Amino acid sequence: MPMSATAKAHYYAAHAQTLREHGAMNASRPWPRRRIGRPRPTVPGPIPAAPAPPARYLEPVMAGQDEDLVDVDPYAPAEPETTIPVFKLLCAPSGYATKRQLRAMGLRRSGQEPVAEVETRGPKNGLLYDIAKARPVRPLTLAKEYALDKATAARQTCGTCGRRYFFVLPTSLKSCLECHGGTPVDPAGYIAPPAPAAHRLAA
Ligand SMILES: [Zn+2]
Repeated sequence: MPMSATAKAHYYAAHAQTLREHGAMNASRPWPRRRIGRPRPTVPGPIPAAPAPPARYLEPVMAGQDEDLVDVDPYAPAEPETTIPVFKLLCAPSGYATKRQLRAMGLRRSGQEPVAEVETRGPKNGLLYDIAKARPVRPLTLAKEYALDKATAARQTCGTCGRRYFFVLPTSLKSCLECHGGTPVDPAGYIAPPAPAAHRLAA
């Protein structure tokens, strides 16, 4: 004879009470198992939707005017970026040369940008220029030579004794070592200043 629902509930309640007294309530229930101890943390519900903006922002401000608008990147380069080939060490073709190689050939790059790079043993790549676009080095004119010698003489001449040395004097001393600290210098290392004009007169 099947048990009634009320009798079944009483039976299970008594059985659960017995297990509860023995401390095995949760382990004895195969399904559904109930969590004992701390209650399960509540899962936050979905984020409530933002309140609707005021009605004035929903007005069709650009209605009929946005057909011709395009997206413009203000930081995009005006010209497409170009790259130059990079050759391995000692693998550059013969038509290219570095600035020093051009100068050894008596040529100058004449303002052209580097057309290729070549890897070196150093941290930087060497810049190669087109030999066909290079032009001969302009000769050193007398005016240029005079200006260079004038500038070099200013760096080699002692302001105190007037000797012109064969090396550049330290700018921190503003004079030669002999004038600064009395250290005698090699007489072969400088050109003596010309004697004052007053001593050249015979009488
Ligand atoms: Zn001096």
